[in-house]
Amino acid sequence: PVGKRLDHLPVARPSGPRTFGPALLEVTGLHKGFGGLRVLDGCSFDVKRGSITGLIGPNGSGKTTVFNLVHGLLRADSGTISRPPRLARTYQLTRLFPRLTVRENLLAGARRPEKAMELLEFIGLADYADKLADSLSYGQQKLVELAQVLMLDPDLVLLDEPAGGINPTQIEQMAGLIRQLNSSGTTFLIVEHNMPLVLSLCDEVHVLANGHRIASGTPQEIQRDPLVLDAYLGADFRE
Ligand code: ADP
Repeated sequence: PVGKRLDHLPVARPSGPRTFGPALLEVTGLHKGFGGLRVLDGCSFDVKRGSITGLIGPNGSGKTTVFNLVHGLLRADSGTISRPPRLARTYQLTRLFPRLTVRENLLAGARRPEKAMELLEFIGLADYADKLADSLSYGQQKLVELAQVLMLDPDLVLLDEPAGGINPTQIEQMAGLIRQLNSSGTTFLIVEHNMPLVLSLCDEVHVLANGHRIASGTPQEIQRDPLVLDAYLGADFRE
């Protein structure tokens, strides 16, 4: 544990900022409550085309609710979401069909079946095509879930804790795949608690606390922002 410091962590692309297209996702003034609980309270942010954008914040700050609203699983009480037509997401805990094979999981709802083996090659799991999904390790299942999402040829991919519950080697592999996909044009919005990964991967980071955005910036800016450290009061950043 490193305590409340982020400024020693390596940040994305030290060679300099990249340039991005206009917003691919634009969220404006979102409000959402559950019963008496106000979860989102005027949340606004955007994701620029071609970027890897992070959405971070303490537990309960509303990140998953944002994902559910953007993905259309929930309806906002007010506010607007302008999203691209082809959008796909992963879940915090993988949602593969456990008793279908890896290949069958990819083919469910597929537009281009021939793409399945290509993607299994890409994630390094071609040899596992005919194994049942629940016979794979959790890290492998997360990679399969990434491949499953890519079957949809999405413009924008929402990743809910891609590094959650997997080991450092698998995290490196996941990060490498995300970078590669991004280089070939896929835009990412990533909810992630692993701060070293967020800082080393993202072009821009939005920070949520108490249902709205308290800070946005490059990893360099975020890691020096006292508001961000305050929002995480009591939390330790994992190295
Ligand atoms: P985060 O992903 O940042 O941890 P969430 O969006 O999961 O935050 O949750 C924010 C708050 O909303 C939490 O207090 C959570 O208990 C509450 N919440 C989320 N979904 C529901 C729901 N369907 N019904 C009631 N409360 C919910």
